Amino acid sequence: MISLGLHWKILIGMVVGVAFGLLAVNVGWGEFVVDWIKPFGTIFINCLKLIAIPLIVASLIKGITDLKDISKLSAMGGRTIGIYVGTTVLAIVIGLGIVNLVGPGRGLDESTRDSLLNDFASDAGARIDAAAAQREAGPLQALVDLVPDNIVGAATSNGNMLQVIFFVICFGIGLILIDPKKAKPVKDFFDGVNDVILKLIDLIMMAAPYGVFALLAALVVDAPSTDLFMALLYYSLCVLAGLGLMIGVVYPALVKVFTGRSPGFFFKGISPAQLLAFSTSSSAATLPVTMERVEEHLGVDEEVTSFVLPIGATINMDGTSLYQAVAAVFIAQAYGMDLDLMTQLGIITTALAASIGSAAVPGAGMVMLVIVLGQAGIPEAGLALIFAVDRPLDMCRTVANVTGDATVAMLVAKSVDKLGEPQERKIDDFYKAE
Ligand code: ASP
Repeated sequence: MISLGLHWKILIGMVVGVAFGLLAVNVGWGEFVVDWIKPFGTIFINCLKLIAIPLIVASLIKGITDLKDISKLSAMGGRTIGIYVGTTVLAIVIGLGIVNLVGPGRGLDESTRDSLLNDFASDAGARIDAAAAQREAGPLQALVDLVPDNIVGAATSNGNMLQVIFFVICFGIGLILIDPKKAKPVKDFFDGVNDVILKLIDLIMMAAPYGVFALLAALVVDAPSTDLFMALLYYSLCVLAGLGLMIGVVYPALVKVFTGRSPGFFFKGISPAQLLAFSTSSSAATLPVTMERVEEHLGVDEEVTSFVLPIGATINMDGTSLYQAVAAVFIAQAYGMDLDLMTQLGIITTALAASIGSAAVPGAGMVMLVIVLGQAGIPEAGLALIFAVDRPLDMCRTVANVTGDATVAMLVAKSVDKLGEPQERKIDDFYKAE
């Protein structure tokens, strides 16, 4: 194990986890896996989530104060948001193109559709309720939600990373504007915190192969029957084809064209974060590793990663938006509805907003899908149709989300002349990378 790169170790952990899960299902060890193996996966994810908020706070404050003046901040901020929105719209258009071309919902026979709706109506019901509550709020509710009335409250809730980011950006701006002598100790403090968190990531990542083993073994044991997967095969393939196109073609092409770096370089650098995104289904839990890989293995300056990636993990979800577009049209097709061009153009806007609003945690994209369905006049109960395959697709769309964030970080870094050579830090002493 010692001489293998981290991505290989994680990959081995995943494969062995799936194999062990399948074995456990067949020999009746399901309960053992749930009682004795799954908790280690949960602990691993908890450790990553635990450091996500302190990391966002420390790195954003460092990122903003390193920029030194407001004009630099707004230039980088504008560019970042612009590219994020551009890649997300592209992902939605790709998703819509594929689902319209293939028409997976048109092939779903009525009896399968009804049994899927019945089987999963109660499970999906809770999610539909949660999302319906969001939709019933007024048009400016998203803006109101951005501004927390209690920062501790915002930091303790999973879905409120945007509120934390809002506060931290304000704090960072304040820090730039005050007397530099007074600002220095505060800045130094967060610099130190940032380094401590990076060190903790090193330590947590030593457990990554075992963590993903536990997560995947438990996932296989908990998975619903394969019949349901078969019924939803074409739909799943449409989502996967779109995600594959983004991950395998669009991102490496953008990186190549705008930064000159090869796809091999890009994937070698980012693959541990991709594997972790797949295993955890959470961009937030993956964020610490994404930041480290982009900085040390893709050569993006800390000034850029510490600003672009925490924001990206929260608002840039190309995989989620693509999935929402495909799922919305699939459900419409399954109900025999024909969506005209205007409705599909509307889906681009709502999927963009819904993906920005999705928290970077497992299953969030499906909750926010209700907004897209509601806007397009598609029955919300249709969520139950796709419920069975949500988790595996979530794993894959999270890979796209994380890869998209890394791509944009490279593009922004290039545009502000902050893309250099990779600098592997002491972290690799731990797991002797590549
Ligand atoms: N799990 C996704 C993420 O964290 C969000 C989603 O699509 O559900 O990036």
